[in-house]
Amino acid sequence: MFQHDVIIVGGGLAGLRAAIEASALVDTAVISRVHPLRSHTKAAQGGINAALGNAEAGRDDNPDKHASDTIKGSDFLADQDAVELMTRIAPECIFELEHWGCAFSRTDEGKIAQRPFGGAGFPRTCYGADRTGLYLLQTVYEQSVKRNVKEYQEYFVTALIVDEASCRGVIALDVKTGELVPIAAKATILATGGAAWIYSISTNSMINTGNGMTIAYRAGVPLKDMEFIQFHPTGLYPSGLLITEGARGEGGYLVNSKGERFMERYAPKAMELAPRDIVSRSIQKEIDEGRAFENAYVHLDLRHLGREKIVTGLPGIREICLLFAALDPVEKPIPIRPAAHYTMGGIDCNSNCETSLRGLYAAGECSCISVHGANRLGGNSLLDCVVFGKIAGQKASEFAKSVTGGTDQSLVQSFLEREQKRVAAFQKANGTEEPSTLRDEARAILTAKVGMFRSGQALEEALEDIRRLRARFSKLRPLNLDNVFNLDLIRAFEVEAILELAEVITASALARKESRGAHVHLDFPQRDDERFLKHTLAHYTPSGPKLDYAEVKITRYKPEVRKY
Ligand SMILES: Cc1cc2nc3c(=O)[nH]c(=O)nc-3n(C[C@H](O)[C@H](O)[C@H](O)COP(=O)(O)OP(=O)(O)OC[C@H]3O[C@@H](n4cnc5c(N)ncnc54)[C@H](O)[C@@H]3O)c2cc1C
Repeated sequence: MFQHDVIIVGGGLAGLRAAIEASALVDTAVISRVHPLRSHTKAAQGGINAALGNAEAGRDDNPDKHASDTIKGSDFLADQDAVELMTRIAPECIFELEHWGCAFSRTDEGKIAQRPFGGAGFPRTCYGADRTGLYLLQTVYEQSVKRNVKEYQEYFVTALIVDEASCRGVIALDVKTGELVPIAAKATILATGGAAWIYSISTNSMINTGNGMTIAYRAGVPLKDMEFIQFHPTGLYPSGLLITEGARGEGGYLVNSKGERFMERYAPKAMELAPRDIVSRSIQKEIDEGRAFENAYVHLDLRHLGREKIVTGLPGIREICLLFAALDPVEKPIPIRPAAHYTMGGIDCNSNCETSLRGLYAAGECSCISVHGANRLGGNSLLDCVVFGKIAGQKASEFAKSVTGGTDQSLVQSFLEREQKRVAAFQKANGTEEPSTLRDEARAILTAKVGMFRSGQALEEALEDIRRLRARFSKLRPLNLDNVFNLDLIRAFEVEAILELAEVITASALARKESRGAHVHLDFPQRDDERFLKHTLAHYTPSGPKLDYAEVKITRYKPEVRKY
């Protein structure tokens, strides 16, 4: 058995930022199913928000305006105290990263450059060309190495170790040997990233299956607001690869097959820089109403920006277009359509990143604090990871320091044996169901019936379909029995998580009989603050999620109808 004061599951931006903080106080380890530098954060392109006021047009920006934009963008479902905390400490968190050497792009004066992003009143998004996530991840990784944070690379966590009231660590599969090992801890932070890959048209990488969320869920911690899935307006057609909002921030136009800049119809003031929920819906409407190319996509046109701006400001986007669409955006418009991108919901926790289970914390995309409410603004997720990663690290290490006494060996042993039985059950499978088929069917059902526009009938059908898939999951074909890098076994864990989350997302969506942010219910097209200005909480039961609700924290910003 391994043992640490604080363990962090996840080596992305949130996990490593937490590790930097926790390691200042106690013995800290990071567990990651991939090398930390392969975490999904590296794919983030456009930037990270903070009201620095560095751009000429942003001189009047401040944290209050950042909070106001974020809360309005969230369609008033965000907890306002948490948003105010995040926007207040955003500038100091960015300067900290700058001092650690993060390669931000610069203004002519040598300050951190900032670009406009959707739903923001000022150019507020700090960036490193269109590779911001990579630069941030490299920065925090270097700092964690400098602090001798212990790493468990290629360990796949399957469960938490829990006594009656507290989390005592995790059980992880050492992917290199196939051995299940307990890693005990006084405090545990989940920073396992998002789940948007569970939709078939997605900007996410294949490891974003949300299994970290289900680990908490099964241990009794509710999942919050899971019905709110963000569809990014500009997924490359047909692959879904992300074309950053930074492309519109730099001035890109959205154009339909009639040559119209159609955002004029939907958000005449903000145009292409309205919040993502609005832009995505507008694109989908253009497609559905027959004003798309090949009935499938619209154009993102960057040509008027000129070669210099595209080559220096958006080099990664140009490369993606050249490699995956065989076109140069300097010369041709980019075919795009919305793609599932981000999970606004996640593991329920407060602004100290504490969950309902003592000693268990969550940060980053797997968590729901909630600072994004029903719709996240671009550039606020990397910020969420940095701010709340830091807070999670602080709070977890302080808690760990206060814990006395050692680990209960018999408790650890009983969880180890439980997970060994779970693996043995997978290994004894003798049915006919192919895990990847169940996975693909679940992704297709979510895309078709729990997508951007939802109806009661489609959601009911989806719930039944997903429950049928869950029943089929108990009849898997015999799995590969190898110990070394047994990806077949890991896939089985992933598919189990995908089916579980698909059920939670669908049940939560079905119960929210209103339209708010990214959740558009065709039978209930209006926002209904009286009945639904509240967070959905999904609790695990063996027969499916049990839902209840929690209050939204309102401080200064009265819910109003959003206009852009
Ligand atoms: C293409 C793309 C571009 C984006 N661009 C931006 C942007 O410009 N600005 C912005 O603000 N946001 C952006 N986002 C969103 C943002 O990048 C993510 O929300 C954020 O990076 C998530 O970071 P994280 O630390 O929470 O998780 P991740 O970086 O996804 O890391 C998750 C970690 O958890 C580990 N893990 C998961 N499950 C297990 C397990 N069972 N056992 C062990 N380890 C596990 C993984 O190995 C990984 O290390 C973008 C998202 C995408 C998809």
